[in-house]
This record gives sequence, structure tokens and C-alpha cells, in this order.
Amino acid sequence: MPSHTPEPAADKDGFDLVIRHADVATAADRFTCDIGVRDGVITALARRLPEGRQEIDAAGRLVLPGGVDAHCHLDQPMPDGMRMADDFVTGTRSAACGGTTTVIPFAAQAKSESLAAAVSDYHHRAEGKAAIDYAFHLIVSDPTPAVLEQELPRLIAQGYTSFKIYMTYDDLKLNDRQILEVLDVARQHRALVMVHAENADCIGWLTDRLTAAGHTAPRYHAMSRPSAVEREATHRAITFAELVDVPILIVHVSGREAIEQIRWAHGQGLRIYAETCPQYLYLTADDLGLDDHGYHGAKCVCSPPPRDAQNRDVVWNAIADGLFSVFSSDHAPFRYDDPHGKKLHGQEQPFQYIPNGIPGLETRLPLLFSGGVMSGLIDVHRFVALTATEPAKLYGLYPRKGTIAVGADADLVLWDTERRVTIRNRDLHHAVDYTPYEGTEVQGWPVLTIAAGKVVCDNGQFVGEPGAGRFLPCGTPAAFVQPPRRG
Ligand SMILES: [Zn+2]
Repeated sequence: MPSHTPEPAADKDGFDLVIRHADVATAADRFTCDIGVRDGVITALARRLPEGRQEIDAAGRLVLPGGVDAHCHLDQPMPDGMRMADDFVTGTRSAACGGTTTVIPFAAQAKSESLAAAVSDYHHRAEGKAAIDYAFHLIVSDPTPAVLEQELPRLIAQGYTSFKIYMTYDDLKLNDRQILEVLDVARQHRALVMVHAENADCIGWLTDRLTAAGHTAPRYHAMSRPSAVEREATHRAITFAELVDVPILIVHVSGREAIEQIRWAHGQGLRIYAETCPQYLYLTADDLGLDDHGYHGAKCVCSPPPRDAQNRDVVWNAIADGLFSVFSSDHAPFRYDDPHGKKLHGQEQPFQYIPNGIPGLETRLPLLFSGGVMSGLIDVHRFVALTATEPAKLYGLYPRKGTIAVGADADLVLWDTERRVTIRNRDLHHAVDYTPYEGTEVQGWPVLTIAAGKVVCDNGQFVGEPGAGRFLPCGTPAAFVQPPRRG
């Protein structure tokens, strides 16, 4: 018989991990303390905590909640021989090394497929692979009566409380009537609808005109989707949300014209939330036209396209003045030199056939930290709100995710605010063969990432474990439990 030595009290109640001298910033507060972690959860915030089994000295580091990337595409089934470069192994590894500890990618319904089948397929893609926690948004591309009346209500009840709909892309877009029907299900069952707002017919017509004139280079992608097509669709989506009386979120807002529509909606007291992404702060349409005789502009082909320098400034200002709730990567990873990527079928493609999307999971936080916080445009609290707290609230993961508090998951990032880094793709951890931010210099870098109490990235070295990430069912989006916005 083994003898039973009672565990010492300090051990039983003790900490698996104590982070010392943490300069903590949340969306609301800033304080210095030790952080005690047990079983992956923060169990104490206090000065001079007793010793933990593992100790990390955070002196001189800023400690922020791990990022929540609420818009990223990983291993999503694609049509026409396209293939995403990142699966859940490489995608979550890259996210972790960029200071993100929760991702919300998309379980996408193909037309004529069941939504529940898409969800179960997507679970197979994530299980055993994700190194950090994850939830799923749904993509609704075929709102049949079965989907609207049975599948969606059931899935919402099971913790899939947000879905994305498209006003463009032939394989995904919904017509106006279908959008109204999906929004009505969201209102009844309290789910947040994310809207990709671009007018499909305008884009189709402009594309035909451009290609008929022989304009097929990557840079014409931007001309086929000018601001007006985003503005019109944004206004239409707002109108639908008003008619149905349901909050919505406009994803990847690219510039002034869409922003003006959202401001107008706020003035009407409508609950319209908005997201933007690093590409609209750092790139312009010129990045699609560099090396015009080559094809390198394909690397920056995404939709909506990056606009011009003035629009970029307007987006920065809207980051600062609170128009945006969420800052996401919209990571959509396609390799450049790849027959399943930007050189589909081994060819340089006319712009309308180039897979849309750019990588950005790992660079999302440093780009906003450097350009926003270090430049003095926003404070660190707003940074945390945009990149962690607000997405966690809006998608029903708060307060487990998105803040540093007793009872929250121990998802923590130590930042070196002095560190200057020149972004190089060779240093990133995704499976994409380029970054649109190659050569961009930033100040401030996530030097240690802790997910659920375990170090997953240490000074650029991934030390996490595929399969350690857990699926997170989402609760009711905060948009449904807050009073309506007033202008
Ligand atoms: Zn989109």
C-alpha cells in the first residue's frame, strides 16, 4: 500500500505559475501586481504572491490580455483548386507568436450543403491541431428553410452565435431577401451577423468593362471594387438591420465612404458595429500595382481593396475616435508562388481570378501597437479593447477571454515596448511564402505569449503544442445585452 502523505497546503492551494511584477493593462485599468495562475485560469492578482511551481519575471514588460482575432480564415474549403496555406497547426502557431491566444475562424456552408455538416467537418479540421483556443463563426451561403428554421436556431443554441454573410462572391453571396431572412433569425435567436458589404453586380459590371479593355493586371482589382460599391452595400446592410431591428457588424471597413455610412447609422441610434484590419492602415491600392509588369501586386489582392493614403488616414482616425469596435486580421492565407494560391493552376491570373486575401495573423497586434499606441494616437486601453476585449464581448466569450481578471483564462502577453523589429516573412510562423508588410519597421513586440497558463511562444520561438487549444462555445453577443447606442 502506498503511504498517503498529505500534500502541503501551499501546494494544494498554490499556483502552477506566478508572473511577477506585471505592469498590467486592460481595456479599463492599469496596475502593477503578481499574477497567480492555476489550472490555466487566473486565480489571484496581488502583490507578493507565494511562490508558484513556475515563475516568470515580467519586470520591465507590459502585460496585456492575449489577443482575440475574431476574423481569420484557416483551412477553409475553397472552390476551383484554391487551397489555403494555413491549417489549424500553422495558423494558430503563427497567431500565438503574434500575441493572439484566441481565434475565431469560419465554418463555411457551401451552397446546397447543410450548415451542420460544415460545422462538423470544420471541427475535424481543428481537433488535435489548434495550439490555442478557438471558436467558430458560421458562413451562411444557402439559407434554405431547413437552415433558417432548424439548423441555425440549433447551432446558435450550441454556441455558434455569430455568422458571416456575403453581399458579393458568386459562391457565397445572398440576395437582399435572403439577407433579411437571415437577419430575422439572428434577431429571434440573438446572434450577431457579420456582413461583407460590397455590391456584387456593380463589381461584375466593372470587371467585364475592365477586362474587355484588356485591363487584367492585379492593380485593376482595386478599380473593379471602388469605394462606391462598398458604400452602397454598407448603406443597404444598415437599412436591412434597421428594418429587422437587429444589431449587425460590418467587417473589414476600408475607408471614408463606408465609415460615413456607419457614422450616419450611429446618429440614427442604430446598433451598427464595425471592424477594420491592418491592410487598411498600412497598404494602399499602389501596393497592387508595384512592379506592374510582373505579378507581385497579386500578393495584396484582397476585398475590399486597400484604398489611398487619405482613406488610410480616415481609417486611423476612426480607430482613434471609437467608431470601430473590433480590429481583426482577416487572415486569408494563399501562397504567392503556388498553383493553389495566387498563381492558380500555375498561371498568372487575370485579376478577377486571383484568390482574394492576405496573411496577417501574426502581424496584426504589432502593427496596431506600433502605429497606434507608440505613435500616441490611441492609448494602450483602447488597443486592448479593439484587439481583445471588444471582440470577446461581441462574440460571447467575455469575461473568460479578452481581459486580465480573477476567473479569466490565463491568456497573457508580455510586450517589450522598446523593441524595434523589421517585419520579415522568414521570421513569421505561418505557411504563407510572403507578408505584405515585408520590411515594415515597428516598435513594440510581443515577446512572450501564455495561453491557458502555458507558454506557447518565447521570444519568437513557438513552444506550444498542436491540440492544446480547446473549442469554445460562444454565449450571447454583447450587442444583445447592452442598451442601444444613441448618436
Ligand atoms: Zn469578407
